[in-house]
Amino acid sequence: MKPADYPEPFHDLVRELRRLPGVGPRSAERIALWLASAKDARPLDLAQALRHAAENLRSCQTCGFFCTEEFCEICRDETRAGGEICVVEQATDILPLERTAFFHGRYHVLGGRLAPLDHVGPEQLRIGELLARIKIEQPREIILALSADVEGEATTNYLAEILTPAGIPLTRIAHGLPAGGGLEHADPLTLQRALSGRNPVRV
Ligand SMILES: [Zn+2]
Repeated sequence: MKPADYPEPFHDLVRELRRLPGVGPRSAERIALWLASAKDARPLDLAQALRHAAENLRSCQTCGFFCTEEFCEICRDETRAGGEICVVEQATDILPLERTAFFHGRYHVLGGRLAPLDHVGPEQLRIGELLARIKIEQPREIILALSADVEGEATTNYLAEILTPAGIPLTRIAHGLPAGGGLEHADPLTLQRALSGRNPVRV
């Protein structure tokens, strides 16, 4: 006799959930169980939101932030032109900086940081795009706002080396940020201090 198993749709759901970052087999089963049986799960609303996001969300051609058109609202805002470009690791780092209401320049999302052990080199990051952009936009200043951990430091140093020849003032945010923490976990006041206390980068 074959042992009983979950019905196929449940298996399919668990398999798809396991593809999500940070979701292991046990969590996938728990979420699938909740989706399949909880009264307030509304799985079709979730499916619709996923479809809507997948069909409409994209990355800004210039900076890499989320948008629904070719360019994001920050890059379309002409009052932000010609100022500072703040370089961040992820698109999710931008909103915490925006919430400080302190920074009025534009951003550039690298899409990660240098991590040789995970096979992330300069080619895997949006560094070429940054160099091309700098030539066209000629910003007043480039601010490096990367994490304060080992990989973030390595990325900051690498960028400092290749950006210095462009002759544009290069600074990095002051690090009063939580150790090992990215920008997204910092509160607005800490971020504002980190921005206002930024220091010139020396190679
Ligand atoms: Zn943009």
